[in-house]
Amino acid sequence: MKVIYPGSFDPVTFGHLDIIERCSKKFEHVIVAVLNNTSKKRSFFSIEERIKLLEETTKHLKNVEIDAFSGLLAEYADKKGCSTMIRGLRAVSDFEYEMQMALVNRKLNKDIETLFMVSRGGEHVYLSSSIVREIASYGGNVSCFVPEPVERALKDKFKGGI
Ligand code: ADP
Repeated sequence: MKVIYPGSFDPVTFGHLDIIERCSKKFEHVIVAVLNNTSKKRSFFSIEERIKLLEETTKHLKNVEIDAFSGLLAEYADKKGCSTMIRGLRAVSDFEYEMQMALVNRKLNKDIETLFMVSRGGEHVYLSSSIVREIASYGGNVSCFVPEPVERALKDKFKGGI
């Protein structure tokens, strides 16, 4: 089975990578779909940077493809001929938003099924891209949260200060 794992990945963390690795073992093909936000919510890393970091950190996984998408996930799913979405759940607090998205996506495209993968636990439960950006902005050590290429990219972005 082919699955789509959509998200902002701004930037990719060990939490995302854990989900990607577990999906790559369970499914034939995994499309990591990076949201190219064209609207008001600007991303920290550009779409090119986010894709490059994902490519670098998943290159050992041969059945994982990195792609960009914009607009509706329901339409992207149609275009890719893949109707199974993967989302990660860290804590109960993720659930309400994720359930709303899953229901809306199914309303827009009745074939869409969203499967949830529960976080590995431990520090993955509170790990998010935004917390990583926050720590890095103050010069904190993020090496336990993100792979080395991401750590370097964050250092580069913040080297001139916030
Ligand atoms: P969004 O799509 O809301 O911008 P992200 O790009 O940060 O979110 O994450 C994509 C998906 O990965 C979401 O389903 C999110 O819940 C999940 N995720 C993010 N961080 C973790 C983590 N540490 N453990 C498990 N799942 C995670």
